[in-house]
Amino acid sequence: MPHEALPAERENERRGMVAAVVEMMRFTAPATGRERLGKRVLAALGKVPRHRFVPEVDAGNAYLNTALPIGRGQTISQPYIVALMTELAELGPEDTVLEIGTGCGYQAAMLAELAGRVYSVECLEELAQAARERLERLGYRNVEIRSGDGWAGWPEHAPYQAILVTAAAREVPPPLLEQLAPGGRLVLPLGRPWQAQSLMVIEKNADGATREREVLPVAFVPLVHED
Ligand code: SAH
Repeated sequence: MPHEALPAERENERRGMVAAVVEMMRFTAPATGRERLGKRVLAALGKVPRHRFVPEVDAGNAYLNTALPIGRGQTISQPYIVALMTELAELGPEDTVLEIGTGCGYQAAMLAELAGRVYSVECLEELAQAARERLERLGYRNVEIRSGDGWAGWPEHAPYQAILVTAAAREVPPPLLEQLAPGGRLVLPLGRPWQAQSLMVIEKNADGATREREVLPVAFVPLVHED
């Protein structure tokens, strides 16, 4: 999408947010193994208008490096976490990406800036519809959102070079591993609701074997799933 010019004050806030994320990346590098954001991720972070993704009352807080409520008990993730997960996904411009947990659509917009096609699944129809309209209004044409249980992924568009899950599951949903392309990366928080969770990166190599790595302790809303 075209870069939206912001009023000077908001542009300063946006720069401040990017600076805060850059600083936090450096600070957490011993755990994450990533000291810096790639150029393309950094550019996307400075471009996606986060104030358009939060409720109007919070527009003044949109460029703080914090999570914010978006209604229905859900949140927009902290910009640092969005940037880190995006970095760990290592997206190329031709990649097809799957996101589970669209929420307000902010992470989906970041992915849309970096990948070829983005598919995102949100279990709350109301949030899915609002995100769809928001991304449409902002001019994103390479994102498709469906409402449903993301545990099952979105098999019709698989395989995916990267899959991001933005809600915490107790275990890795097997369908997501199946839908990951050889050479692809699954980035997800694992753990019990409201307890210690770990951000994990699971890589699938060319022969289909997987290798997982724990990146950081995190706190996400639960991935709702009934077995
Ligand atoms: N990606 C968002 C963060 C969303 S918070 C951002 O950019 O800020 C997590 C979202 O996951 C919530 O909207 C919640 O409704 C959704 N969710 C929870 N369980 C889900 C499931 N099983 N399938 C799809 N979405 C789910």
